[in-house]
Amino acid sequence: MSKLILSIALIIGTSILSSCHKMESSQPKVESIDTRGDLGDNAEEQPAEQPPAEEPPVEVPPAEEPPIEEPKVIKEFAYPDCNELNKLWRTRYHSKLKVNWPLKSFACVGPSKDRVFAEAAYILEHTVFRKHSLPAGVKLPPADMLSFVTDKYRELRIGPNQYPSTDVDNKIVYFYANIENENGFAAVGNLIHEARHADGLIYLHIPCWDGPYKGQHMCDIGLSDSFYEGGTHRVATLYLAWGVAASNWPKEWKDASRDLVKYVITNRINATAATRQAWIKKYLLTEW
Ligand SMILES: [Zn+2]
Repeated sequence: MSKLILSIALIIGTSILSSCHKMESSQPKVESIDTRGDLGDNAEEQPAEQPPAEEPPVEVPPAEEPPIEEPKVIKEFAYPDCNELNKLWRTRYHSKLKVNWPLKSFACVGPSKDRVFAEAAYILEHTVFRKHSLPAGVKLPPADMLSFVTDKYRELRIGPNQYPSTDVDNKIVYFYANIENENGFAAVGNLIHEARHADGLIYLHIPCWDGPYKGQHMCDIGLSDSFYEGGTHRVATLYLAWGVAASNWPKEWKDASRDLVKYVITNRINATAATRQAWIKKYLLTEW
């Protein structure tokens, strides 16, 4: 369970809540409701570069979604054993994630950034979402979530900072050295968030309209039901919300994601209270 709490803390403290700029270099990693610091510590504000004043254009999702045929019972998500995950890392994930450090096998115990990213890739690739009985307006997630995320950036590196960041111009996503002590669940939200930054400067954060960060460049605009719309908080929280509403994730992950998504929706998304509440109700209060 302590691992789980760490996961929550890390997601909150780093990716999803990080306030990013062209090069997300000014934001401390630690913030929020976790044990690692106070959100107020993250208030080190930087002027944003031309934050978008309006909703970004809607991207067109691929037309060919597979037909919805799924078994009545979906097995709960679980990582493969260490040898199998190692094999996936060596044969696929190291390349797929575009990491810039050398390929090697990782140890099954002890710190390992390779294992953490292998787990994150496995989550993206092997999470099963139920796709029937969707609430009105909800759009299906990409069929290949791993490619959807990794196609957005050019390279994944470990940077000098203590928080994740993105060099938008060069489409380079940076994590931090301590990621080796974390786990794939903690990393996956960060990876989605930073990958979305790599999609372009239009996804820089904008000033929050209300709440404790009012005026600070820490928010995204609006909520949506599509993975092809909106900024980094929006896309990363939508992934976690699907995890809560319709995935085969273990209960601990769902509980952690539910709390985190509520927090982000409330504090890092510019929307009316009614819109926030309706979105929370749709994704977090009942499983589809
Ligand atoms: Zn960001």
